Formats: sequence, C-alpha cells, structure tokens
Amino acid sequence: MAKALFVRKTGGPDVLKLAEFDPDPPGQGEAQVRILAAGVNFIDIYQRSGLYPMQLPFIPGGEFCGEIVALGKGVQGFHKGQRVAAATAGRGGYANLVNVSADRLVKVPSDISTDTAAAMMLKGMTVQYLLRQVYRVRKGDTILVHAAAGGVGLIMCQWASALGATVIGTVSSPAKARLAKANGCTHTIDYTRKDFVSETRKLTKGELLPVVYDSVGAGTFPDSLDCLRPFGLFVSYGNASGPVPPFSPQLLAQKGSLYMTRPTLFDFVRTPQQLRKVAGELMRVVRNGTVNINVNHRYRLEDAAQAHRDLADRKTTGSIILLP
Ligand code: NDP
Repeated sequence: MAKALFVRKTGGPDVLKLAEFDPDPPGQGEAQVRILAAGVNFIDIYQRSGLYPMQLPFIPGGEFCGEIVALGKGVQGFHKGQRVAAATAGRGGYANLVNVSADRLVKVPSDISTDTAAAMMLKGMTVQYLLRQVYRVRKGDTILVHAAAGGVGLIMCQWASALGATVIGTVSSPAKARLAKANGCTHTIDYTRKDFVSETRKLTKGELLPVVYDSVGAGTFPDSLDCLRPFGLFVSYGNASGPVPPFSPQLLAQKGSLYMTRPTLFDFVRTPQQLRKVAGELMRVVRNGTVNINVNHRYRLEDAAQAHRDLADRKTTGSIILLP
C-alpha cells in the first residue's frame, strides 16, 4: 500500500486527509516514483481552497524528487533506481508514491540534493521563464520583486542579481528584509509599513521600472502599475493575497501605455524540449552556485495542513518541503 493526502472537497487546510491507497502499476509511458521529498507551493493552497478548480478527488503537490521504482511500457532513457524530479500541474506530490508521465521527469545530477531538487522544480523553473523569457532581465535593469523573501522570491533575487539587475524587493518584516538582502536583493521595502510606490520612485530617482513581478495580487494592485515607466511590463503571476480584481484595459493606457501578462509555468514547459531547456538552465545555475535553494522548512507529509497554515500566514521564508 502507498499513502497520500487526498482533497475530496475543497476548503481550509483540514480538508487534506491522509489515506492509504493501492497503487496502479505505471501505465504506457509512465514511471512509478517513490517520492523522497515534495515541495509545498502557494499554488497548492489555491487548489486546496478551490480558487484554482481541480477535478475531485485529487492528491495535491506540484513538485517532488524521488527514485524510479518501476517503468511502464515504452519509457526510454530512464531506469529503476534513478533519482528524478518533476513539476506537475498540481498533482501527486503529497504522497510516497506516484505514477507520472516519463516525459515530465528530469534526471537529478548527483551534486543536487534530494531536498533541493524537490524544492526547486516548480519555483525555479518559474523564475527561469519570468527572468529569461517573459522579460529578459539585463545588466543595468532595475526590477521590482514582490514577496522577495518567499520561495519564488529568494530564487528570483539571486538569479536576477547574477544577471546584473538591481533588485528592489518587498517584504513584510525586518527579518525577511535581511534574508532577501543576503540573497541578492539590493533594496528592500517593508510594504506593510511603507508605500512601495513612493519608495520605488525615490530609489529610482523618478525613473521607475521596466518590469514588475507581482505574485501578491489583490494587495499590491493597482499600485504595482504605478511603479512602471511608460511601456513597462506588469507581470502578474500569483495571488497570495487574493486575485487581481477585474479592471478596464483603459487603466493600462492611463498609467503609460503599459503591457500586462498573466503567465503560467506550464505554457513554458509544454513540450519535452522546452522542459529540458528550462530545467537545464535551472540545474546549471544551481550547480554552479549562482542560485542556492533555501529549504528553510521541513514537515512530515502528515503535517501538510500545518505547512499550508504557516505559508498562508506569511510565517515561512524560502522553500518548504514535505517528507513522506
Ligand atoms: P511564497 O513563499 O512567496 O509565499 C507567499 C508570500 O506572499 C508570503 O510569504 C508573503 O510574503 C506574501 N504575501 C503578501 N500578501 C500576502 C497575504 N495576504 N497572504 C499570504 N501571503 C502574502 O510562496 P511561493 O514561493 O510558493 O509562491 C509565490 C507566488 O508565486 C505565489 O503567488 C504563486 O502562486 C506564484 N507562482 C506562480 C507560478 C506561475 O507560473 N504563474 C508558478 C509558481 C508560483 P511577505 O510576508 O514578505 O509579504
């Protein structure tokens, strides 16, 4: 028997229910992976609560690292005992065993630890597409990263700073400010105490920014738009404080002919070739030390509800993993 946390109805953290299940053998093109560690992401909260609709019941968990224990027909390039990791569209990570399409798996090199691999696939590949594809951050750019001390945030600060950007990061406490700065953030703004728009204006001497990366959503909208210079790009990629409310496109005209995008990782890793490219670039920056994955919190699989409470209550920094 295997074990997993199931969501049978959406709601608060307590809808996560541990249960045993009889695993199916891996199907055509699938690998069966014994999960050694799974990342916890804010997206798991959206899915558990019903903000992002899922077919019920489901096992949450969009990133994990484990070892292949069985292969279905037609799988090539993988073998039993191999360490692999994946970012899946919010499925299957909160378990000790999962069947996953082999073309979603990446091999984990021996110099990347299991905990690091589990914590970096969804968050790190997100940072790759945000900094390297949605807007190509260049030396000399100044960018704004909201929730800079979070899981995605700490990776983004390090990677952007290595690309030569000046990073302005918002945080909610002095401890988070220190952590963001230790991870490449140039300036921090406590947006629970100060107006981040006027602080950004001061820091950029009125120049404002070419791009804002906003994962906070309702709480920072529409102020994030006021941090952009004309033709700037508003990247709304998350809703930690609630979704951005509906608004008229006219607002983008009023604020300086702005561009806006609302991207999602899975469009950037749709094909195996795209996945290899994005994951490959992430592996490179982790292996050469450009990006350190801060695994700052570990919980037992059984305690995932507590991990969700802590993440939603802004008590965590960096990455969180579950150990089955
Ligand atoms: P984080 O570790 O960043 O946690 C969320 C952070 O948001 C908190 O720590 C907190 O930082 C900040 N925050 C601001 N307001 C609130 C609020 N009202 N309630 C809770 N948190 C708040 O989470 P992740 O690293 O897992 O994810 C970061 C974001 O990236 C999420 O919004 C997620 O949905 C998004 N994401 C998007 C993807 C995509 O492809 N579109 C893929 C992966 C992630 P502080 O206390 O400093 O304000």
